[in-house]
Amino acid sequence: MTDARCDVLVIGGGIAGLMTAWNLAEAGADVTLLEAHDLGTQASGANAGSLHLQIQYPEFAAYGEDWARAYGPCLGFLKESLSLWKGLSARVGEDLDVKLGGGVVVAQTDAQMHLIARKAKIEEAHGVETRLLNRNELRTVAPYLSDKAIGGGFCALEGKANPLRATPAVAMAAERAGVCLLPNTEVMGISSEPSGYRVMTSRGSFQAKRLVNAAGAAAGKVAAMLDVPIEIDGFPLQVTVSEPVGPLIPHLVYSAAGKLSLKQASNGGCIIGGGWPAARRPDGTLATDPGSLAGNMAVAAGVVPKLSQIRAVRSWTAWVNGTPDWRPILGEVPGKPGFFLSLFPWVGFSAAPMTAEVMADLVLGRNGTASLKGISVLAD
Ligand SMILES: Cc1cc2nc3c(=O)[nH]c(=O)nc-3n(C[C@H](O)[C@H](O)[C@H](O)COP(=O)(O)OP(=O)(O)OC[C@H]3O[C@@H](n4cnc5c(N)ncnc54)[C@H](O)[C@@H]3O)c2cc1C
Repeated sequence: MTDARCDVLVIGGGIAGLMTAWNLAEAGADVTLLEAHDLGTQASGANAGSLHLQIQYPEFAAYGEDWARAYGPCLGFLKESLSLWKGLSARVGEDLDVKLGGGVVVAQTDAQMHLIARKAKIEEAHGVETRLLNRNELRTVAPYLSDKAIGGGFCALEGKANPLRATPAVAMAAERAGVCLLPNTEVMGISSEPSGYRVMTSRGSFQAKRLVNAAGAAAGKVAAMLDVPIEIDGFPLQVTVSEPVGPLIPHLVYSAAGKLSLKQASNGGCIIGGGWPAARRPDGTLATDPGSLAGNMAVAAGVVPKLSQIRAVRSWTAWVNGTPDWRPILGEVPGKPGFFLSLFPWVGFSAAPMTAEVMADLVLGRNGTASLKGISVLAD
């Protein structure tokens, strides 16, 4: 395959690239998507399926209120994205196990509760309500929690979806809409041309007027091919699932006592994560870190005691796309007309539907995109 031509080339077949390509094709664009591996097999197929909205407690505690205020405008973006998630099963014609039953961050000390309250004030200023619950109110909402819980912050809009269903379903919808999907096609070099860009891959070269870099954790390497420096990197994470049990946890659960995201899938397995690091083997591949596994399970069982009687059956690892300040990088690169970055870090699964909508608007030069001011580092 040499010098194939198209209007828009999307680099990266994770959920962000696939949804962007799908939206572009539905609007009539001629779109080809290049993916180095199989579609949806990196972060988008290996994440924990949380649909996040509230500011993450560990980062709030670590980085403080100034950081949270700078990140605050992203909350409106995420809120829009979660409402798009609500309609996604109907849009793809498949049940993606989307449940928005609310998310609760659980405090075990007064100091933690105080921080949750301060965090809620910033969330409120950006249109996201996090209701503060005292011990009794929390017990009523979430009777499965430990007696050590003294209160919490409840955000009714959060929830979960099944990434193992969502990303393949989006890929099929994109293909039906006319996107040319090319898995096992790694981008190895890019050059500017008078009429756009030439992209060299492991399967020949392509020419396109417009280019969307949705390469997730590897997006920095792809941007560097056009001498564009971006502060995005890959961080190794792990997640664990328990054996299936009867209905236990209807919410997305976080803890202020340690890193945790916890939810129960529709098949009964409890999915336990929250940003615990995986180990790197000498050859660069990832492996489960036993220390992270033990730490993660201890935090989970400290919040939901029933979990100490349930066996963990499988852990897995993947690289998450992260930026130092958590802010997304979305938009056209100044000085590189037609080269777009589509990068929502850390919670990119939650943000994908809105990311894709905004990217399609930008690539097509359509009105209707909400302002990215304060959200994307490219709009500062
Ligand atoms: C373990 C883990 C748990 C997570 N849990 C959650 C969660 O619960 N909720 C949440 O919202 N987010 C979560 N995340 C984050 C979320 O999964 C990611 O932010 C999101 O999936 C990013 O989507 P993406 O499409 O941008 O990137 P990816 O899914 O990483 O896709 C990028 C694609 O680009 C391809 N690519 C890279 N370089 C090239 C190249 N040179 N040529 C061609 N293709 C290339 C890659 O192979 C990859 O398939 C988690 C991440 C991890 C790792």
